Amino acid sequence: MAAHIIAAVRSDPDFTNYAELTDAVCAVRIASRVTRRLQAGLGGVFLTKDDRSPVTVADYAAQALVSLVLPSEDAIVGEETSPDQVTSEGREVMARVADAVRSELPGVAADEVGEAIDRCSSAGDARGRFWVLDPIDGTKGFLRGDQYAIALGLMEDGEIVGGVLGCPNLPSADGRGCLFAAARGGGSWELSLDEDGPAPRRIGVSPVVDSTEAVFCESAVSMHSDRGGHAGIAERLGVTAAPVRMDSQCKYGAIARGDASIYLRLPSSATYREKIWDHAAGFIVVTEAGGAVTDAFGRELDFSLGRTLETNRGVVATNGLLHRKVLAAAATVLPEAPAA
Ligand code: AMP
Ligand code: MG
Repeated sequence: MAAHIIAAVRSDPDFTNYAELTDAVCAVRIASRVTRRLQAGLGGVFLTKDDRSPVTVADYAAQALVSLVLPSEDAIVGEETSPDQVTSEGREVMARVADAVRSELPGVAADEVGEAIDRCSSAGDARGRFWVLDPIDGTKGFLRGDQYAIALGLMEDGEIVGGVLGCPNLPSADGRGCLFAAARGGGSWELSLDEDGPAPRRIGVSPVVDSTEAVFCESAVSMHSDRGGHAGIAERLGVTAAPVRMDSQCKYGAIARGDASIYLRLPSSATYREKIWDHAAGFIVVTEAGGAVTDAFGRELDFSLGRTLETNRGVVATNGLLHRKVLAAAATVLPEAPAA
């Protein structure tokens, strides 16, 4: 049945300039299936990376699967590099990653799995077409049994032109889990995670113009943003609803389909730089749904500068209608805009 959903994407004339998104939808669906199984049976197993953040078998397996499904000549900026095989822990993790990959792509050799992960080491560029991949965005949420996303963006000459977000735990009309896909000029779509699920539907942001009626979301991890600053903005806007705390780019999906109208991510520190894979797919899913995404100071996100959003600080996404008002409120709680 895979053909019918893929055909539905293909047959939409607005997606024809970006036919490679068909591969992206397929890759994200496969990775979503595998990570779902791993999350159910994981038991909190993870390694700690040099930056002290956790990484699991599922992060590596999802990166390997997406890398193997996309055409081998395509460049990919991916978050992960394969674990050090010198330690027995690293070898054990890679053996489990290979098993997980083979559950969907039987016959893939162990060394091909490592190569698939490590080919995602592109540095990013202001030119050309390449993919931007966060294999498990929201690893902390994944480990808690909460929200996470498989986030795959498509860059062309420094701009995001396509994106697919697999959200295996996000509620949807046909049960738990859905997928968002958007291509520049083609609108934003919600698809089923299952190939034989309901047909894609076009989605749009919330029509809320009165900020006192707005629902806002923020990260579930307090140290990933400035919750005090968010509360100050909410107060200025007269927002009465409690913040919706959610891990991962599922927040962008929530904005794109109108579940919430404001996503605040004020900088947690002066030195942190947002990673392009944490925002690429979400950015286009929201903007193609009619929303707006800038940094916390109202500047356009510049995805062309390598693996980080070097000249931006924080992120604000809204339904568009509230954007100026939210930025004005943010300006009252933020320090002076740092030089880009
Ligand atoms: P979220 O689930 O919205 O908190 O986003 C998860 C992402 O936050 C991870 O993929 C990290 O790359 C990113 N992250 C880690 N540390 C920070 C930080 N100090 N500020 C902002 N984002 C961070
Ligand atoms: Mg991430």
